[in-house]
Amino acid sequence: MNEHNPVLYRKYRPKEFNEVVGQRHVVRVLMNALRRGKVAHAYVFSGPRGVGKTSIARILAKAVNCAHAPNGSGDSDAALSIPCGSCGSCTAFASNSSLNLIEIDAASNRGINEVRELRESVRFMPPTGKYKTYIIDESHQLTKEAFNALLKTLEEPPEHAIFILATTELEKLPQTIVSRTQQFDFSRPGIKDIKMRLGKICELEGAVCEDAALESISLAADGSLRDGESILGRIFAVESKNVTSKMVEEILGLPKKESLRAFFSAIAKGECASSLAVLEEMIHGGQDIRSIARSALGMSRNAFLLKSDPGLERVLLEEATSDDIDYLKSLLPLFSPGRLQDAIRIFLEAGNTIRKSPIPSLPLEIAVVELTRDQSSGAVR
Ligand SMILES: [Zn+2]
Repeated sequence: MNEHNPVLYRKYRPKEFNEVVGQRHVVRVLMNALRRGKVAHAYVFSGPRGVGKTSIARILAKAVNCAHAPNGSGDSDAALSIPCGSCGSCTAFASNSSLNLIEIDAASNRGINEVRELRESVRFMPPTGKYKTYIIDESHQLTKEAFNALLKTLEEPPEHAIFILATTELEKLPQTIVSRTQQFDFSRPGIKDIKMRLGKICELEGAVCEDAALESISLAADGSLRDGESILGRIFAVESKNVTSKMVEEILGLPKKESLRAFFSAIAKGECASSLAVLEEMIHGGQDIRSIARSALGMSRNAFLLKSDPGLERVLLEEATSDDIDYLKSLLPLFSPGRLQDAIRIFLEAGNTIRKSPIPSLPLEIAVVELTRDQSSGAVR
């Protein structure tokens, strides 16, 4: 997704740990550290974009300064409800006026001046509250000089400072830096987590969204809640707040699910002519040929996994909807494992050659012919 509607993303940026989508392992460890009053002085948050690295960094910065943060002795349950959101420090964070949060974007000018200033300012105690938190976003883009300067600070971090380095490219951070931090890998949240959060946003926005539409958006978000929110925002911007699957398919230019299924079912049954007819209809309807190939590949792959081990259904539910899985299960008797393996290989090749093909539909047409050849209707090879 290149287009962004930042409105929902900003509006619903998590403000507390329990609003974070996915990343349970990270949240659990950080909350434990808060509870015991043992927050580390330096962290590396690595992982794909849009999965909540800076959001969690900001929540942590707010939590350590919250007036109700446990001090390591006694009332440790207090950690469950921090940041409280209402004390003076939390209020300052909420209005972006806290002096204890310093954010540096290493991508903008590679951080040379910022790190120099950081080294100066880090020596001073925070004006109020307990910790100054420095969040360095896109930290892999710091220059060598900036890294060296930062390293000196990390070697002897002041008691009152916390450094959080966020990065999408962990391997580009010097090992000398990473080894002085506590490092967390952020993962892409599953479709269920994204769907739940988007459903909540719809509710808060007073919008009604068909369940299947929510699932399509969550799938298209491809593990990035930010992309999911952006899609939802685009739909809200052009349509009413009554979101249907049809709308989502149109706005995203997705091949229609019913057409894709008709296409895949015809292949499963070995019906060459009707597979080609559905394919032609989809292409003439303006649906993106590469998206069709990608969807057919995805269905083949999921069917293959289900055929290999029905226990994988649980795993697939992270990325496909339960309705999709039921549909594929209904087709499994028509496929031998070998034929599904062929389908994966053939759709993969087709997808890779579409761009180079003088006739864009040709690779998929050949794929259909290959996959339906020698298949009398309904027969298992
Ligand atoms: Zn507070």
